[in-house]
Amino acid sequence: MTAMDWQRAGKYFLLADMFKGLSLGLRYFFAPKMTVNYPHEKGHLSPRFRGEHALRRYPNGEERCIACKLCEAICPAQAITIDAEPRQDGSRRTTRYDIDMTKCIYCGFCQEACPVDAIVEGPNFEFATETREELYYDKTKLLENGDRWEAEIARNLELDAPYR
Ligand code: SF4
Ligand code: SF4
Repeated sequence: MTAMDWQRAGKYFLLADMFKGLSLGLRYFFAPKMTVNYPHEKGHLSPRFRGEHALRRYPNGEERCIACKLCEAICPAQAITIDAEPRQDGSRRTTRYDIDMTKCIYCGFCQEACPVDAIVEGPNFEFATETREELYYDKTKLLENGDRWEAEIARNLELDAPYR
């Protein structure tokens, strides 16, 4: 037998690997835990996190979206459907803005394409539903999301602005 074989046999009979594994287990048993106590405690989210979609308004309550349809054109999943008509005041606004969230791959292209920061992916990732129908978002739902998450979305856009 070579020296290497004797060394391996010694480790085998002294149960070296088992004690090494046990010591590792003990070390992590007393170490601070890596996991968080979700949902009561949540981990850090990057300002670039791409969560649930929202349509934003200007501070005066007017919709930001000008129905340019760039988001619809760029969406690789063809998840966005927009209809638009001119208003009486001459401005153009959407009459329909749907996102099929079952198709969406959260690529963020719609947000990047939007010239007025109207469609954005907010920080919300807790929007699981029980039916597929609930994941067909219409304009009302998207505007409600925008109203609900505006403070966080505005802060994230501001933090990300230097890198855009
Ligand atoms: S995140 Fe991507 S896939 Fe989802 S709606 Fe926007 S462009 Fe389409
Ligand atoms: S959300 Fe933005 S990109 Fe999409 S239609 Fe409205 S203004 Fe254009």
